[in-house]
Amino acid sequence: MQQVFYNSTRGMEEKVTASYAITQGLAKDGGLFVPDHIPALEQSMEALGDMTYQEVAYEVLKRFFTDFTEEELKRCIQGAYDGKFDHKEIAPLVKVGDLHYLELFHGATIAFKDMALSILPYLMMTAAKKQAIEDEIVILAATSGDTGKAALAGFADVEGTRIVVFYPKDGVSPIQKQQMVTQQGENTYVVGIEGNFDDAQNGVKRIFADEAFAARMKANHKQFSSANSINIGRLVPQVAYYVYAYSRLVKAGEVRSGEAVNFAVPTGNFGNILAAYYAKQMGVPVGKLVCASNDNKVLYDFLRTGVYDRRREFMLTISPSMDILISSNLERLLYEIAGQDPGETKRLMEDLQSQGYYEITPAMKGKLQDFFGAFADEAQTKAAIAQVFEGEGYLLDPHTAVAYHACRRYQEETGDRRTMVVVSTASPYKFTASTMEAIGQEYAGQDDFELVECMNERSGVPVPKAVTEVLESPVRHKDTCKKEEMPQVVAAFLGLGEVQ
Ligand SMILES: *Cc1c(COP(=O)(O)O)cnc(C)c1O
Repeated sequence: MQQVFYNSTRGMEEKVTASYAITQGLAKDGGLFVPDHIPALEQSMEALGDMTYQEVAYEVLKRFFTDFTEEELKRCIQGAYDGKFDHKEIAPLVKVGDLHYLELFHGATIAFKDMALSILPYLMMTAAKKQAIEDEIVILAATSGDTGKAALAGFADVEGTRIVVFYPKDGVSPIQKQQMVTQQGENTYVVGIEGNFDDAQNGVKRIFADEAFAARMKANHKQFSSANSINIGRLVPQVAYYVYAYSRLVKAGEVRSGEAVNFAVPTGNFGNILAAYYAKQMGVPVGKLVCASNDNKVLYDFLRTGVYDRRREFMLTISPSMDILISSNLERLLYEIAGQDPGETKRLMEDLQSQGYYEITPAMKGKLQDFFGAFADEAQTKAAIAQVFEGEGYLLDPHTAVAYHACRRYQEETGDRRTMVVVSTASPYKFTASTMEAIGQEYAGQDDFELVECMNERSGVPVPKAVTEVLESPVRHKDTCKKEEMPQVVAAFLGLGEVQ
């Protein structure tokens, strides 16, 4: 089998192994690790159609992570995709009207980040062993709500790791906060900070960059790592559900093997949709990838004009996980459409850093044909939730509703009626208040908790375990701190003693 090696998109590190790239996270030059080629699937879609989710995931992971053994990968997969998911199919494909929804929200935190963050801890620990890293791995993260909880759930009680998450004390939703402060696991620690998300993020970055702190960690046989979305160990597991979805369509007789299908993907950091692009290159017959944005439509503008411009107002929307102006994973696509040219990629990223925008060449723009950009504003997002609920009785969360709207825009504009899969990234129970308000004005002004019962009655969708559990679980994490105190708090949790 041909080995896959990884290169930095900015050129400094080349031909490293998957296990190195996973433990490292980001390349030393600030670039992202990308595979030197995209491997092809070995099995036919018919054969994949008879496999379980875990087996399909293995078929994908083994092609990318070629320095892992079969036993290692299977152990990672079994540890990740188990009873933490409340659906035996892990990523079920549901047909509603003329559309198929790929439900990626059946994991511990009822959003799609679980698909990657449930396996990353296992991949990271296996990779650390292969890299002969004996230190305890300490994951340090700042969160605006979603990623922190998914990382906590993934790393809880994983041997050889600890995880510390900082969140803005008054800046997350009631359900998000309750999810975090009730987190189980002896190796987990959650702290609310007096400040906003940027304060938390900057505090974490300062600790990462503090050399004296790193030295004290080392002396205590510990080292920091990061679980953020640019780790290749998060991206590759996401390719699996696109392969799985296509194989299910074939098995169900919805498409003939080889017939192209379109995917509409609610997009923020560009990780999910990039995984779809990789799946296409592996051999999944993908037609168009509809890149769906909310009011922060920087990607929509980029796909239309070839100019990526983050000099604009940041909008707070009811699809907060897509409120992003810098889509980190887009760098991996730029590298690809620049003909794998790290010099060109580096130049564009430097332009973004120094002037707040960049423009790609016409040749690069010509290679964006796989994508179609569309967006939904707030009113359109709510209208989509109401329309699908009233018409089909199926309740979309606001992120998925953005993708639904974008998919209809695409179909109207192009007349392309090929089979369409809408990628569904969160359970409506994660965004109870905004979802309920969209289906009835009478629900306006009530909070997430108050509306859980009501959502259950109106939709008939059982309340997920993830929600009932946090409502019943005791609060374990009560600590708060000022932003200046973050280093001391981390040192105390890790038993490093006072920081001078
Ligand atoms: C993170 C997230 C997204 C955006 O995914 P990207 O991979 O960052 O593009 C969309 N929906 C939900 C619910 C998310 O949590």
